[in-house]
Amino acid sequence: MKSILFFGECMLEENADDDLNFDGELSFCGASRYGGDTLNTALYLARTTDTEQLKISFATALSKGEQSEKLLNMWQLEGIDTKLVTQSHDKSIGRYRINTNIAGERSFIYDRSDSAAKYYLQNEHQLFSDELTKIKCDYFYFSGISLAILNVKDRQYLLELLTTYKNGGGKIIFDNNYREILWRGEQALPFYQQAMQLADIAFLTDEDEFSLYGDSSVDGILQRIHRWRIPEVIIKQGADPCLVYQYKTSDINEPYSVKTIESTTLLNHQVVDTCAAGDAFAAGYLAKRLNEKSTTESAHFAHLLASRVIQFSGAIITLDEMADLMPESKFQ
Ligand code: ADP
Repeated sequence: MKSILFFGECMLEENADDDLNFDGELSFCGASRYGGDTLNTALYLARTTDTEQLKISFATALSKGEQSEKLLNMWQLEGIDTKLVTQSHDKSIGRYRINTNIAGERSFIYDRSDSAAKYYLQNEHQLFSDELTKIKCDYFYFSGISLAILNVKDRQYLLELLTTYKNGGGKIIFDNNYREILWRGEQALPFYQQAMQLADIAFLTDEDEFSLYGDSSVDGILQRIHRWRIPEVIIKQGADPCLVYQYKTSDINEPYSVKTIESTTLLNHQVVDTCAAGDAFAAGYLAKRLNEKSTTESAHFAHLLASRVIQFSGAIITLDEMADLMPESKFQ
C-alpha cells in the first residue's frame, strides 16, 4: 500500500448570508462548510481513489471542541487518516467568510492570523518529522499556502526536512497556490524557488506564476521548469487547456515532452463557483497518476473532476454530485 501525506490548514467557511459572526458557533448544514486547499485535494483524492491501495493522511492542527471533533469525524468518513491531526488547547480554527456583491463577484475575508495550524510544526515537529523520515510516507503534498501560513523559521525547517525526505527517496508534490493576501512576492520568492527545486510533480496555475514572478506568458514559467529540471509539471490555465511537461533524459536538446490537454467544455451558466477548481484538478490528476496511469489520462480526469466541482457551490461538493466519478468500491 502506498501512502501520501498532505500538510496545510483547514478553515471554517461562513457565508455572509448565514448571519453568523466569527465568535458564534457554526452549525454545519452540509459538507461544504469548510475548506482549505490541501485538505480539498486530500478529500477529493480520497473520494476518487481506492483508499485500500493508497493511504491518504492529512497533517494540521485544529482546536479543542465540538467543531473540531465534527471535522475529524467527517474526514475519517471520507477515508482520510487523521493520526497527524492535533487539537490545540489555546488556538482556534481559521475562518473565512465569502461576500458576494450585487454583480455576483466574490471576495474573501480571512480570520486566520493566529490559527492553530500556523503553529503545527512548532508543536508537532517530532510527530511530523517521524512520518516523513522514519515511517517514510511515499509522497508528500504541500502548497504555497502551506508555506505562507508558517513563520520564516518553520518554513525553513519544513524545507530542510523535505530535503532530507527527498534524499531518502520520498517524492514531493507542490501546488503553487500563490496568495498575495498572505505574503508579498519578495518574501515568498526564495521559498517558492526552494519548493520548486524539491518538487517531483508541480501543479502551477498560470495566473499565480504571473503575479509571483511578474511574467506575462508561459515562457517565463518554462524557463524556470528547465532551469530546475522538475520531472513533471502541469500548468493549469482555467478554461484553457492544461500543459503537461515531463522531463526526459534521452534528449539533451529537447529535454521535455509537452502535452496539451483540452479542458471539459462548460457553458457560462454552468460555472457556478470556481472555488477549489485547482485543488480538485490536482486530486483528479493524482488519483490516476499515482495509480500508474499516463499523464494524458490523468489530465483528462483532472479536468473532468475540476469541471464538476465548479458546477456546484462551495469548495467541497456532495458525494451525490460526483458519484459517477468515484470508484465502485466506494459504494459496496
Ligand atoms: P486555480 O483554481 O488553481 O486558479 P484554474 O482556474 O486554472 O486553477 O482551474 C483549474 C482547473 O479547473 C482547470 O484546469 C480546468 O480543468 C477547470 N476549470 C476552471 N475553469 C473552467 C471553466 N470555465 N470551464 C471548464 N473547466 C474549468
